[in-house]
Amino acid sequence: KEIVMSGIRPTGFLHLGNYFGALRNYVRMQDEFECYFMVADLHSLTTHPDTKELKGHVHRVLAENIACGLDPDKVALYCQSHVYETAELYLYLNMLAYTGELEKTVTFKDKVRQHPENVNAGLLTYPVLQTADIILHRASYVPVGKDQEQHLEMARKFANRFNHRYGDVFPEPHAFNYGGELVKIPSLDGTGKMSKSENQYATLYLADDDDLIRKKVMKAKTDSGPTEPNSVMPDYIENIFQLMRLVSSQEVIDKFTADFNGCTIRYGDMKKQLAEDMVNFIAPIREKAESIRTNEKYLKEIMEKGAEKARKSAKATIELVRNAMGLNYY
Ligand code: ATP
Repeated sequence: KEIVMSGIRPTGFLHLGNYFGALRNYVRMQDEFECYFMVADLHSLTTHPDTKELKGHVHRVLAENIACGLDPDKVALYCQSHVYETAELYLYLNMLAYTGELEKTVTFKDKVRQHPENVNAGLLTYPVLQTADIILHRASYVPVGKDQEQHLEMARKFANRFNHRYGDVFPEPHAFNYGGELVKIPSLDGTGKMSKSENQYATLYLADDDDLIRKKVMKAKTDSGPTEPNSVMPDYIENIFQLMRLVSSQEVIDKFTADFNGCTIRYGDMKKQLAEDMVNFIAPIREKAESIRTNEKYLKEIMEKGAEKARKSAKATIELVRNAMGLNYY
C-alpha cells in the first residue's frame, strides 16, 4: 500500500476549509492507503507560543477529525510532539535547506508582514519541519489544501536533495486531492481563505452553532445583482456559489445559476438557502465532536495508540537515514 501523511495545526477551531481541503480526503484515503494523520502541535508553536489553550485545541482537533469520519483503528492518528524521531530528521534536513530559499517562501513572507514582532527561526524553517513530518513515514501522497502547494514543492526538493547526497531513501511526496485540483475555500468576506487564526468572522467553523452559521452566511458580501444577462460573476459572488457547490443540491445550484444569468437573482434568498444547507451539514459534525472532545480517557487511548503506530514507522525510517548518512559508527 502507498503511504499517506498529513496534519492540522491545533491553533483553533476547524473550519470548512480544513474539511474540504484536507479532512474529506483523509476519510476517503483511509480505506485505500496506509495513513498517518497528525495534530501538528510543534508547528503551532511557530505562531502561537502561548500554550495555555494548547491542550484544549489538541483535544478539539482530534475530536473533530474523528467526528468527520476518521477511524483511529484504520489510521495512525497522533500528536506530532509524541513522535520524537521527527525532531531528529528535522535537524538533518535543516543542513540541506538554504536560508535563501526559505526566505522566499510565500507563507513565510506573509507571516513576516502580519506579525513582524515574532519572526522566529522556527517560522523560517517551517517547510523543513513539514518535510520531516511527511518523509518520516516515506509518504507519497499528502492531502492538503491549495495554500500548501508551495510547501509540498519544497518537500520534494528537500527529499530529492537528501536522496542525491546520501542515497535513495525517500519517495517524492505529492500534494493530493481526489478532485485533482487542490482546493481553496474562500472566506465569506471575499478577502482570502477561511482560516483557524485569521478572518474569524468570515470563516465557518465546524463548532459554530446554527444561529451563528446563519448570521455569518447572511453577512457574506454581495451587491445589487447583475443588470445584463450572462454577466461575468464578481469574485465574491463566485465564492458564494463555490460554497453552495459544497453543501447544496444540484437543483438549488442550477436554480440560482439560472437566476444569475437571467438577472433575477435575489442574493438574500440565495444566502438563506445556503445558510440552511450549511446548518444541515455542520450540525451533525459539531454534535458528534462535542461528545468525543469531552471524553479525555478515550482521547488519551487514541493518542497512545497513534503514537505507537507512528513511531514504529518513524524508527524504521531513521534507521535508513542514519545508515545512508554514514552515522553508524559500530
Ligand atoms: P492557521 O490559520 O492557524 O494557519 P489553517 O486554517 O490555515 O490554520 P492549517 O492547520 O494550516 O489550517 O491547515 C490544515 C489543512 O487545512 C491543510 O491541509 C490546509 O491546506 C487546509 N486548509 C486550511 N485552510 C484551507 C482553506 N481555506 N481551503 C482549503 N484548505 C484549507
